[in-house]
Amino acid sequence: MNTFSAPKGTYDLLPPSSAVYLAIRERLSAPLRRSGYGYIETPVFEDIKLFSRGVGESTDIVSKEMYSLTTKGGDELGLRPEGTASVVRATLQANLHKLGNLPVKLWYSGSFYRYERAQKGRYRQFAQIGAEAIGAEDPALDAELIILADDAFRSLGLTNYQLLVNSLGDKECRPVYRTALVDFLAGLDLDEDTRRRAEINPLRVLDDKRQSVQDQLVDAPMLRDYLCEACKAYDEQVRALLTAAGVAFVDDPKLVRGLDYYTRTTFEFVHGGLGAQSAIGGGGRYDGLSEMLGGPALPSVGWGLGVDRTFLAMEAEGIVLELPATTSVYAVALGEEAKNVLFGKVTELRRAGIATDLAFGVKTIKNAMKSADRSGARFALVAGDRDLAAGVVQLKDMTTGEQTPVELEALVTTLKEKQL
Ligand code: AMP
Repeated sequence: MNTFSAPKGTYDLLPPSSAVYLAIRERLSAPLRRSGYGYIETPVFEDIKLFSRGVGESTDIVSKEMYSLTTKGGDELGLRPEGTASVVRATLQANLHKLGNLPVKLWYSGSFYRYERAQKGRYRQFAQIGAEAIGAEDPALDAELIILADDAFRSLGLTNYQLLVNSLGDKECRPVYRTALVDFLAGLDLDEDTRRRAEINPLRVLDDKRQSVQDQLVDAPMLRDYLCEACKAYDEQVRALLTAAGVAFVDDPKLVRGLDYYTRTTFEFVHGGLGAQSAIGGGGRYDGLSEMLGGPALPSVGWGLGVDRTFLAMEAEGIVLELPATTSVYAVALGEEAKNVLFGKVTELRRAGIATDLAFGVKTIKNAMKSADRSGARFALVAGDRDLAAGVVQLKDMTTGEQTPVELEALVTTLKEKQL
């Protein structure tokens, strides 16, 4: 019979590298957890209309890449392609915006689903750490989030990346720019699909990755030249705060999020060692989203950082995290009686906070010692019935090979003193 493989575009997280993933999640979220962001978890599937409205019908991630399903009860659901729409939905549903001070600051960690062409760095299930600050319009909030993302990447040792920043304007200045852009695009030689996209969502054409399209956009009008005074001042404030915090950025006038409810600040972190799939995180301000979902006006800003790509970026930079040993002590019992006593000691050691494992199903001492070696433990505990009769276990230092008897009663304190 054939065995099964993980579906195309997905992969299993396995030890030992899965420990690195956990550490990445932990470090990417640490700056948020010390900055007033509370943890939120929402379902991985939602009413499909939440995404068509909250992410946008004209985006690839909704129109082409969304996993959709009809339940036995007839509900139309979509697997979440991103986190923001769900977080705003949950905020409105629970009235979080009415319960306390604004902004409501939330962070999440989870898997997201896009039916994309699978390749290295682009998966059909991928993980993000995300943050949303809902209900405040304040350049310091945009700056806060960008600084926290930068701190998160730096805390992992990453340096070979750039922060791209742009402003998308607001409902005052964007429509004027949109008209100018539509006029410009009308004069270009675009394929049918792109022309349709230009009608629904002209800004997204700027984001087209194809060189043939980019070549035609060299003289396209730029939003930056159309920003109203308020947007300009806001943008300058954000940039001044980033600079004051020592966060370097690069202007990217073509960086867009094409939907109407995205406003002002938009940004992306791109890594130099990842080839085409270079974005390791991105986000921006979305002042109109809450209203699109039937809520009150709640100007907001957020980001999502890609865990999978952060892992690849660290690999590309040759960064190895110092992680606590998964096993510090490995116990090998020779004989039934010894097994029972040692099993009790293993439990005690674990409760004392020492990472301890035990050889199960021991057939030969040689094999059990091989397992001890493979576990990476600093010490092996070996006990036979004769040792136990003398009230001791043998403590073997796995680096030096030195073996010393230790009183059973003193075992936990002895090992604690070794600060494993
Ligand atoms: P986006 O919502 O497309 O801006 O995604 C935010 C971040 O998630 C990106 O910067 C990537 O790091 C990551 N990401 C998005 N799509 C994928 C994917 N298909 N595979 C792996 N990571 C992804």
